[in-house]
Amino acid sequence: MIEILVADITHLEVDAIVNAANGSLLGGGGVDGAIHRAAGPELLDFCRGLGGCPTGEVRLSPGFDLPASHVLHAVGPIWQGGMAGETAQLRSCYVAAFECALSQACTSIAFPAISTGVYGFPKRPAAETALAVMQQYEEQFARVIACCFIEEDAAIYRDILGR
Ligand code: ADP
Repeated sequence: MIEILVADITHLEVDAIVNAANGSLLGGGGVDGAIHRAAGPELLDFCRGLGGCPTGEVRLSPGFDLPASHVLHAVGPIWQGGMAGETAQLRSCYVAAFECALSQACTSIAFPAISTGVYGFPKRPAAETALAVMQQYEEQFARVIACCFIEEDAAIYRDILGR
């Protein structure tokens, strides 16, 4: 059962949290900034060594000072109107994060709403893409969490799932 939480993802005690990173992996605003602040400066040092990440892919780091053991840094697409492959790239982020989590034997994973902040992906189609991939993988995990930052976003997820 996919859990829909309204929470700060940096507070979650799970094996892996997903970051909505940018391609530099050197931190930014939104959830990325929150994760870097909560994980501590060692995260930035580690990410410098990763050399960036293409859109639609994921890179793994430790959680450092976070309660989560791992951070999966996913680079979502910047919305350009929907005809530039954004949906496929967003889907690829979720798939890559799940595959990376499985490779690390993670049993619990939490996702923010990738690309729906500064990157401008419309919230409802982004949630539809996120949930479709979560439904594909949920049986392989003890916990799959859609971590929404505001109640309004959680309502979209619940509505899509008919809850
Ligand atoms: P992007 O650049 O991929 O759009 P943002 O960080 O701007 O990433 O936004 C992605 C989503 O993360 C937004 O829905 C935003 O409300 C949410 N968000 C921001 N801070 C947090 C947080 N601490 N925990 C969970 N979600 C967050």
